[in-house]
Amino acid sequence: MDLSLYREDVFTHYKSNSQIARVLSEAWCSSEMYCPSCLNDRIDKLPDNTKVSDFVCGMCKNEFQLKCSGKKLGRKIVDGEFNTMIRFINSNSTPNLFLMRYSKDDWLVKKMLMVPKFFISQSIIEKRNPLSPTARRAGWTGCNILLDRIPEDGKITIIKNEKMIEKSKVHKIWERMNFLNKKKPHLRGWMADVLKIIEELSKEDFNIQDLYKNKEYLCELHPDNRHVEAKIRQQLQYLRDNGIIEFTTPGRYKLLKE
Ligand SMILES: [Zn+2]
Repeated sequence: MDLSLYREDVFTHYKSNSQIARVLSEAWCSSEMYCPSCLNDRIDKLPDNTKVSDFVCGMCKNEFQLKCSGKKLGRKIVDGEFNTMIRFINSNSTPNLFLMRYSKDDWLVKKMLMVPKFFISQSIIEKRNPLSPTARRAGWTGCNILLDRIPEDGKITIIKNEKMIEKSKVHKIWERMNFLNKKKPHLRGWMADVLKIIEELSKEDFNIQDLYKNKEYLCELHPDNRHVEAKIRQQLQYLRDNGIIEFTTPGRYKLLKE
């Protein structure tokens, strides 16, 4: 995999920096990026007027959206219109997300993460303030994707420190978490939220009380649900059934590593 984005012709065609970065990063994905889901060697660029998705895998039909930045990836990623995003999540049609960081000094891909579509739930979407009445698109309300609410397995590293991570490793994490894909959107959100809390405990093993301590946070994320404790217990069972956690002794649980 060649990590260089540089292409002379793009610099003569385009003037604005953001446009140049966009064209270069898309061209790079078309020629260098593979499909993490089925390991197809290539992904294909979709026509420019396609809504949301930028690439599709010809084999498994997974779609991908590319977001690139010349700056360090922060905890928030700016996304599109809030209600559209929620609609996409609820109808199971969000694409997988590639997050690329490049450097404008040498035009190299420094870092790339993928957030699989099954980790994109309402819990990680933050509504932004509507645009002011004087703005051209007055009232338009955007959203942010909150990366710090996504569990580690939902932020799969593809390139780190200008080095490509082995494809098989990337694919293994995708496969390990792919069971979420079969769950309904709201349930997937619950599972990812509970998994994130388990990760943040940073304990060798934990008990149910450790999780109940985070009830308020889960209530905030799922305001319509009044049975939070039952929901937590249900997620533990799902996570166990799918090999993510282990029930050790009665009432004690352990997060399994890949
Ligand atoms: Zn594929």
